[in-house]
Amino acid sequence: MDFSLNDEQKMMIDTVRRFIAEELKPLEDEIEDQGFLAKEKAQVVHEKAKALGLYGMNMPAELGGGGLSNLDRILCEEQFGHTTDILIRRAFGNVYEPLLHCKGEQVERWLKPAIEGARTCAITITESGAGSDAAGIKTHAKKTTIDGKDGWVLNGSKHFISDGEWSDFFLVSARTDNAAGEKEISMFMVDKGLPGFTVGKDQKMMGIRGTPHLELFFDNVPLEAVTLLGAEGQGFKLAMGALNVVRLAQVGARAVGKASHVCELMVDYANERKQFGQKIGDFQMIQQMLADSVIEINAARWMVYHAAWMLDQGMDAREQIAMVKVQAAETLGRVVDRAVQIFGGMGFCKELPIERYYRDARIYRIFDGTSEIHRSVIAKMVMKKGAALFDVNR
Ligand SMILES: Cc1cc2nc3c(=O)[nH]c(=O)nc-3n(C[C@H](O)[C@H](O)[C@H](O)COP(=O)(O)OP(=O)(O)OC[C@H]3O[C@@H](n4cnc5c(N)ncnc54)[C@H](O)[C@@H]3O)c2cc1C
Repeated sequence: MDFSLNDEQKMMIDTVRRFIAEELKPLEDEIEDQGFLAKEKAQVVHEKAKALGLYGMNMPAELGGGGLSNLDRILCEEQFGHTTDILIRRAFGNVYEPLLHCKGEQVERWLKPAIEGARTCAITITESGAGSDAAGIKTHAKKTTIDGKDGWVLNGSKHFISDGEWSDFFLVSARTDNAAGEKEISMFMVDKGLPGFTVGKDQKMMGIRGTPHLELFFDNVPLEAVTLLGAEGQGFKLAMGALNVVRLAQVGARAVGKASHVCELMVDYANERKQFGQKIGDFQMIQQMLADSVIEINAARWMVYHAAWMLDQGMDAREQIAMVKVQAAETLGRVVDRAVQIFGGMGFCKELPIERYYRDARIYRIFDGTSEIHRSVIAKMVMKKGAALFDVNR
């Protein structure tokens, strides 16, 4: 067992960390105040990050991506946690793994432009009536003929779609009928601007300001046959399988990074702030909050690294990732809550970013599967597998 990072990994972490500190951090307050990231600024950070090879690092090198292993990707994603969602998306890209199922013509039309950053993609599963129950969607696609060629017609709606405004195309989960007339779920790549495809309102959120979350409506949207991603009826499996690593990276690793960032600020403040003639970091109750935060961050971090290592070994890490999702998201929640407490009134005041981190952290327990859903998955597995789930020797 070797827990050390090699020189290349350290250099990569350092490059990402410096880029965030120098190029992204200075934009955060403006985004928070205005509620959006200006297009010209997004273009600048995108170009600078791309020039450094920091865009689409999770994608295969032969397709123009960074070709990082899962562990290396996680090390970068942990650093991404030090900045805000919309800046991560524009600087480093959000090229979703399901796109790797593109074949033939699809590679040139959707996959490569996404990796190059020429086209942005969002993932759309959730509907107003189907959240945790992602298989309960109503959006459906029916086979049809368009200009004499095989195709589909799409009807339904989605909501809470992150980055919808910036996206050029969408991975849309939809019900389809198989030959036996049974309902299945398939995945389609749907370009913005197709007839019948309209974008609804931006659903304002408690945190992660700057990232738009949109409603989408599909009213008899004609889709070419080539828009079907993967095999017919395999959309749910495809999305859930590929999104496992997304959950580990974008929720697990980023939550650890965010909690670490906040913890550093807590320690600095505990050293600086004086009350009753001494620094507040000398009070045992403050020390306990710091100690608990450090313990929990370290536990979550090693769970994230271990799950990434498992993926790199070709192992099935679904259960570990479910555990990581809960552990990392809830650690972040506890750490930011303690941060507000340690900062006192300044933790609640908008002059410092602590209250923003508190608001931004809340969603981590909800998206990519709520804590309750992951706990029930874990509980079912532990009932089935017993000690194999918590003892490496079994
Ligand atoms: C900021 C933000 C960004 C998002 N981005 C995207 C996106 O880009 N694409 C996308 O497709 N979706 C996105 N979502 C949707 C997100 O994934 C869902 O909100 C999430 O899956 C929860 O679904 P829900 O909100 O419908 O809650 P519900 O499923 O209605 O859950 C409500 C409550 O019931 C609990 N619950 C539900 N079922 C069970 C059960 N079986 N056992 C125990 N408790 C249960 C939940 O844990 C929760 O506490 C986003 C949401 C937000 C808020």
